[in-house]
Amino acid sequence: MSELEYQEGRTELNAFGEFALIDRLTDEFEPCNPSTVKGVGDDCAVIGDGKIKTLVTTQTLAEGIHFDMAYTPLKHLGYKAVAVSLSNIAAMNGTPRQIVVSIAVSNRYSVEALEEFYAGIRLCCQRYDVDLVGGDTNSSRSGMVVTVTAIGEADEAKLTYRSGAKLHDLVCVSGDLGSAYSGLLILEREKVTFQANPNFQPDLDSYDYVLERYLKPEPRLDIVKMLGDAGVVPTSMIDVSDGLASELLHICKASQCGCEVYEERIPIDYQTTRVCSEMSQNMLPVSNALNGGGDYELLFTIDQKDYDRVKEMEGVHIIGHITEQGLPAVMVTPQNSTITLVAQGFRD
Ligand code: ADP
Ligand code: MG
Repeated sequence: MSELEYQEGRTELNAFGEFALIDRLTDEFEPCNPSTVKGVGDDCAVIGDGKIKTLVTTQTLAEGIHFDMAYTPLKHLGYKAVAVSLSNIAAMNGTPRQIVVSIAVSNRYSVEALEEFYAGIRLCCQRYDVDLVGGDTNSSRSGMVVTVTAIGEADEAKLTYRSGAKLHDLVCVSGDLGSAYSGLLILEREKVTFQANPNFQPDLDSYDYVLERYLKPEPRLDIVKMLGDAGVVPTSMIDVSDGLASELLHICKASQCGCEVYEERIPIDYQTTRVCSEMSQNMLPVSNALNGGGDYELLFTIDQKDYDRVKEMEGVHIIGHITEQGLPAVMVTPQNSTITLVAQGFRD
């Protein structure tokens, strides 16, 4: 069979989860350049021959999948598209420097709309001292698709991979979890109500925190700085884009270990709790934290020797510890029962 001949048979895309699909597609790519330090499999690729490594990551947001124009202000969308890419640089303990932005847009969008979108991009670039250095502009038949590629750097001594967690390390997470997904639930609810009654004026003021978390997430570069200032290099790190459960499983798989986290230690904002109780009696805030996603917080592990330095850090919560290889990733409830974590992931 010639190399370009098609294989027989057809497997539907939904037969694979996202990660199994990436594995299958990239499995046979072996890096051939010595400067490719880390290829597929972490939050960023790591490139370079020197002590300061270059980090590269790319993220796509597609209309109808990742955002809904019914409730997404374009300025927020521009900000978010940059922020989610920078979050992957933060997850390597790195510093972002440049972005390139590719857009495909249909003629439903006006020049003014795209200017608004770019105002959001500019705001995020200014906020994090990042330069827009290029991109690509195309037309699209179905809505808008945005891809932001971020380039950053990190001293190799400070680089953190998903794979460095070791037995007895402490598991830490920044900020709070489940709030972005709670914001999305509110926006979806208000959209349905508005469709039923276009005169309806949603009252969103009391949900300001969760809405902002969904519409305008921040990359936790402040946490990267705080760790650096304290002289702490995490043993492993990942950003929480798909929910705590999925990210813990990534760390455990890459680091060949298990972990135990304590339910009552998982940080959850009161607005998240309120949204859950409003939505349904059966909706538990911890489920949003485990499976909601979109929070873009940092999940990392530290050596026990760094406990004293990390325990006082504002916005950092120690939620558990790493267990032996072969053990599962579990959550211990306040009643002391153990739940094995499975990745349900975000709808993204
Ligand atoms: P993250 O959630 O941190 O953005 P992903 O789950 O999207 O990470 O991707 C996991 C890894 O797989 C990353 O190293 C990413 O670069 C790589 N990857 C994702 N999609 C593709 C693809 N289509 N081709 C090659 N590599 C991919
Ligand atoms: Mg990531």
